[in-house]
Amino acid sequence: MATLNAIQQRYVLEKVEELRSAHPGLTIDGLVDLLKASVDASESREGDAIDVERGECRRCGDTIVRLGGNRWTHSVGKVGCRAASFDPGLGWDESLDPKWKASPAR
Ligand SMILES: [Zn+2]
Repeated sequence: MATLNAIQQRYVLEKVEELRSAHPGLTIDGLVDLLKASVDASESREGDAIDVERGECRRCGDTIVRLGGNRWTHSVGKVGCRAASFDPGLGWDESLDPKWKASPAR
């Protein structure tokens, strides 16, 4: 397996910092999902810039993102509104319907 040189490591670090500042409360799982989506989009459209769309979930009001035309997810990388509301100290927001999924305003 190839190792990353300093420039590549710097790029990964900057990408992670960019995602962290763009998605307050981002979990490790959410970060991994965003990075996977980013890599998938890059591989499928090599050479093109990744198309990132942002919006507000019409169900729960959270920030939602769509990378490279993939499905919308909440800023923590979860599709479901209730799943995205999870807080390690507080649990889930019980007021959110478990069936709700990230969807942009129409
Ligand atoms: Zn939502």
